[in-house]
Amino acid sequence: MKVAVIGAGFGGLAAALDLVKAGNSVTVFEADAVPGGLAAGFKEPGWDWSVEKFYHHWFTSDKYMFHLFQELGLQDKVLILNPKTVMYHNGKFYPFDSIPSALLYPGLGYGINKIRFGLVGVYLRMTKNWKPMEKTTVAEWMSKYAGEKVYREMWEPMVIGKFSEKHAGKVNMAWMWARLHARTTKLATYMGGFQAFVDDMAGILVEKDVQFRYNTRVTRLEKETDGVISVHTGDNVEEFDKVLVTISPAQLARMAPQLPEEYLKGLLELKSMGAVVMVIALKHQLSKEGYYWYNLPKSAGFPFLALVEHTNFMPAERFGGSHLIYCGDYLEPGHEYFQFTKEELLERFIPSFKRINPDFSPDWITNSWVSRTNYAQPVPLLNHSQNIPSIKTPLDGLYFASMSQVYPWDRGTNFAVEIARRAAAIMLK
Ligand SMILES: Cc1cc2nc3c(=O)[nH]c(=O)nc-3n(C[C@H](O)[C@H](O)[C@H](O)COP(=O)(O)OP(=O)(O)OC[C@H]3O[C@@H](n4cnc5c(N)ncnc54)[C@H](O)[C@@H]3O)c2cc1C
Repeated sequence: MKVAVIGAGFGGLAAALDLVKAGNSVTVFEADAVPGGLAAGFKEPGWDWSVEKFYHHWFTSDKYMFHLFQELGLQDKVLILNPKTVMYHNGKFYPFDSIPSALLYPGLGYGINKIRFGLVGVYLRMTKNWKPMEKTTVAEWMSKYAGEKVYREMWEPMVIGKFSEKHAGKVNMAWMWARLHARTTKLATYMGGFQAFVDDMAGILVEKDVQFRYNTRVTRLEKETDGVISVHTGDNVEEFDKVLVTISPAQLARMAPQLPEEYLKGLLELKSMGAVVMVIALKHQLSKEGYYWYNLPKSAGFPFLALVEHTNFMPAERFGGSHLIYCGDYLEPGHEYFQFTKEELLERFIPSFKRINPDFSPDWITNSWVSRTNYAQPVPLLNHSQNIPSIKTPLDGLYFASMSQVYPWDRGTNFAVEIARRAAAIMLK
C-alpha cells in the first residue's frame, strides 16, 4: 500500500513505524520544519540539550513509550528522576507529590478531611472501573466522596486552571480518575530532551525508507472516484491508498469536507483548550528549595497555572548554565494571552516570581521564548465516551488518531503513541 501520515508528532511517527515495518510505502507530511509536534523542542547556541516548547516529561507508568524505547533500542538514553512538586497554601509552598506528602499539606486541615482525601486517593489508584465516573462531574464526585473542603482546596483549582471557569463545572470524573490512576511521582526524560528522541526516531524511520515532507502543510484530502485519496499541499497533489490524520478534529473537518455530516458534526462539537507557555532563562536558580513543579491557584492571584523550573529536573549546565523556567496556562483561544506580545506577557508574569523567591530581580532574566497553541487539552464533558470519533472514518481509506480520542486517558505522548499504533493496526487489517 501507499500510505500517507499527516503530522510528524509522536502519534504520526509511531504509526509510520508500524506501517513501514509491515512493508508499505509511507510518506509523512509535516507542516513544521521539524518532527515532534506539541512535544517538539528548541536549542539555543551554547546549549548541549534542547528544551521542549511546552514543558514535557514522561511518567514511569507510560508503558507505550517505554515499550517504544526498547523496540527502537533507545532505552539507555532515558533518564528517570524524582523532582519535587509543590502546592500553594496561604503564601507558602508545600511538597505534594505522593499521598503521604499530600497528607501533610495544611490546606486540608486535620482529621476527617485528610482521611477522606487519603481513602479517595487509594480508591482511585486501585479501581479500574472508570466508566460509571463519566456520568458525574469532578465537582459532584469529589464533593460527595472526598468532601466539600477537599474538593474546594485540592481539585477545584486544578480543574479551573486546566479547563477555565466556563468548563470546569462540567468536566467528568473519569478524566480525574485517569490522572490519579496512571501518574507516578518519578518522571522521565531523554538525554538531549524530547526533541533528541524525536530526531533519533525520525532518523530510524528514514533508514527504513519512510519519506518525510517537512514544511508541507496539507490543505485538503479528497476521495477520488477510483478509490484513492488525494493529498493536496499547496499546488501539489499526491495519491495514496490510505491516509492517517493525526491533527486536531477541527482541522480534520476543514481538510476533509467529504466526510459525512454526522462525523463532521462530531468532530466540530469536541471542545479543547489552548495553551500559552513561556520559557524564561535566568542567571540564577529561582526555587531556593530546588522545587521543579509549582501548582498555582488562580484564586491566589497568580497569572498562570504552573511554574516549572526545568533546571531543577535537568542540570543547568546542559543549557550553558542558564536556569530555565516555564510559566504555563491552559486558556480559551480568545484569551488575551494569545494576543499579548512577549514583553506584555513578561510584564504580567514577572511580579509573581518574587512570591517564589523574594530575592528575584528582573535583571536575572537573560532571554525568553513564548509558544502558543489553540489545541492543547481536550475537554471531557459528561458521558464523553459517546463523543469519541472512530479511528476508521466513514470515508473509506481515511483514518484519524488524535489527542481527542485517547479518552479516558489525559492527553500525552504515551497515549498519542498508543492510539496511533492502534490506528496503524486497523489500517493494516
Ligand atoms: C502545555 C503542554 C504540556 C504537555 N505536557 C506533556 C507531558 O509532560 N508529557 C507528555 O507525554 N505529553 C504532554 N503533552 C501532550 C503531548 O504534547 C501530546 O499529547 C502529544 O505530543 C500529541 O502528539 P500527536 O502526534 O497526537 O499530535 P501533535 O503533537 O499535535 O502532532 C501533530 C503534528 O501535525 C502537524 N500538522 C498540523 N496540521 C498539519 C497540516 N495541515 N499538514 C501537515 N502537518 C500538520 C503539526 O505541526 C504537528 O507536528 C503536553 C501538551 C501541552 C500542550
